[in-house]
Amino acid sequence: MERKTLRRTILIFLPLTSICSLCAVSVAAAQRDLSRSPLASERAAGAKADSQGQLHIIAFGAHPDDCEIRAAGVAAMWAAKGHKVKFVSTTNGDIGHWKMAGGPLAQRRNAEVQAAAKILGIETEVLDNHDGELMPTLENRKTIVRLIREQKADVVLAPRTNDYHPDHRYTGVLVQDAAFMVICPFFCPDVPYLPSNPIFLYYSDRFQKPNPFEPDVVVSIDSVIDQKLDALVELESQFVEGCVSGNESMIPKNEVERAAAHERVRESFRQQFSATANQYRDKLIELYGAEQARKVRYAEAFEVCEYGRQPSAADLRGIFPFFGQ
Ligand SMILES: [Zn+2]
Repeated sequence: MERKTLRRTILIFLPLTSICSLCAVSVAAAQRDLSRSPLASERAAGAKADSQGQLHIIAFGAHPDDCEIRAAGVAAMWAAKGHKVKFVSTTNGDIGHWKMAGGPLAQRRNAEVQAAAKILGIETEVLDNHDGELMPTLENRKTIVRLIREQKADVVLAPRTNDYHPDHRYTGVLVQDAAFMVICPFFCPDVPYLPSNPIFLYYSDRFQKPNPFEPDVVVSIDSVIDQKLDALVELESQFVEGCVSGNESMIPKNEVERAAAHERVRESFRQQFSATANQYRDKLIELYGAEQARKVRYAEAFEVCEYGRQPSAADLRGIFPFFGQ
């Protein structure tokens, strides 16, 4: 069965709160401690990669903005090093606006994330599921498994299952449900199974119950902050026009108003990514060393999922070759 991918003839929807907030895990302390392991850089080369040394990464978000908010920085950094990155939105965003909905909005959202992907140097795909209606079905589980296999993923990113939005929660559940099935030869035998399990990582979020996000990796995105902001302002229907809570006054009437609106969006996100760096400064110090970590202004954070392959400290440094040590 062919999965439903948003194409030109499209249909409908995906929501998005103006800032879709988006990871449960308990990995042994030794695995989390990236600050040690003197052979890390040498062993990093042994972290999974294909014969060209290219890592294959796939990131899932519920809506056409979730991956971009949580991981566009590290995605741009991976892409710049020649690694293969793909974002997938599990719904098409067709109800996430105060004024428009349905097929036209879904098409607009797809065009927006395609433009963002071009800026980031990555691939992106929007699944044609209605916004607000995603369910953790067997059909959707198979779709996620096929996507991970087709990407030949070494790394899979996803939201945690603690979240206010059902689409976010179920995207998390669907990816968790795929975390073993991707290596099972007789599950979805139409797509070759992976010979070994990828490493699954969660995006950072603010939710506390039943357990808060615990960062295992915090990456400085200072070198790509403008690239990430450029990508995010492409998502005008989400961030400029107010998403589901907007109004007519938020739609720019000319290029001057559009430029002003874009700068407001940029500043809002600068503050958000700066808060991430400040909140997880201790982890930055572990990874980068105190001197370099103090200078980091903007960051993205990730937690290792206890399903899938459990990475060593060296594995994580291989996946995130950005710490300069
Ligand atoms: Zn969302």
